[in-house]
Amino acid sequence: MAYKIVTIDGDGIGPEVNQATIRVLREACGSDRLEFSAFDGGAGHYLRSGEVLPADTLQACRDSDAILHGAAGLPGVVYPDGTEVGNDLHLRLRFKLDLFANVRPIRLIKGVTSPLTGWQPGQIDYVIVRENTEGLYASRGGGVRLRDELATDTLVVTRRGIERVTRFSFELSRSRRGAPRDGKRRVTVCDKANILNTYAFFRAVSTEVAAGYPDVEIDYAYADAITVHMIKKPDFYDVIVAENMFGDIISDLGAATVGGLGVASSAELGENHGLFQGAHGSAPDIAGQDVASPIATMLSGALMLRWLAERHQDKRLLADATRVETAVETVLAQGQLVPADQGGSARCSEFTEAVLRAMR
Ligand code: ATP
Repeated sequence: MAYKIVTIDGDGIGPEVNQATIRVLREACGSDRLEFSAFDGGAGHYLRSGEVLPADTLQACRDSDAILHGAAGLPGVVYPDGTEVGNDLHLRLRFKLDLFANVRPIRLIKGVTSPLTGWQPGQIDYVIVRENTEGLYASRGGGVRLRDELATDTLVVTRRGIERVTRFSFELSRSRRGAPRDGKRRVTVCDKANILNTYAFFRAVSTEVAAGYPDVEIDYAYADAITVHMIKKPDFYDVIVAENMFGDIISDLGAATVGGLGVASSAELGENHGLFQGAHGSAPDIAGQDVASPIATMLSGALMLRWLAERHQDKRLLADATRVETAVETVLAQGQLVPADQGGSARCSEFTEAVLRAMR
């Protein structure tokens, strides 16, 4: 059976990094196991057609086994209210496909230097789970703008939304080996329960969920304090769960601690659908120059294989995911090809060829 993968290249560096990843995934899995179909979407497509997410793309995503996305967004391409068109592509997919868990692994890999001194690969290895369908961003498009004098957005959380994302986080912790510091399975709830009612509710419901997981420690951190802890004691963390906006912010911080957005992968998961893309945006400043790092998208592709493997109990696909990760890490560890965002000059195409060679 071939898995149906919808690909949306998008804008900026999206096409380069997505196409590079498709080649790597084909090499890893063989040409008959993944059936890729390309669809339109993004800011460039909006300029051409007036639609950021065409109906046929959405339908294909609904019918797919997984979605692989490059990146979306172009400078100056905004809606009349000033919000970005590009972001709207994945926001719509998140809400329409109910992708409630945004999974951002924060893992220091060999060959990448952390800006934090003294940490070795293996010592920073945790996952941020960002609630992806509620929180402050649920207000998008629904806030009030009054007489050019007043603007409001509302932070919305629901019991069901909190329960499912915290349950997901505890299950994820169970599937891992615990925090590098002490081997303890731990879910840290990141909030501002000391200030806002919504976050106090988020904490209370998370604590109820934790009662079902006595083997996993529950830990709490305020969103401001955790930015310090993530720098000072990153080895303490195993899984961190956060409301949408806080998760957005701390996951970019986490990415910076392990080498930046060019190596940060992401998976957006629901009960029935999964969307995979690098954590970075479309980086229009470097688009089309063959200097983008394809690593984040390749590692997101590996996450896609892992997710499919678990859903379909496909051991072969799990091995293929490991091959992709190992090949990327091997090329990085060799140190001959260093992407531009890591201080080197390796081209996207060169790096991709090297990963393909490492797999062969
Ligand atoms: P968005 O708002 O869409 O998340 P952003 O404003 O955070 O986007 P990005 O597009 O993620 O910005 O990129 C920020 C900068 O980081 C880029 O201008 C680019 O120089 C660099 N960058 C991002 N991704 C990569 C990559 N894959 N390879 C190399 N450099 C990158």
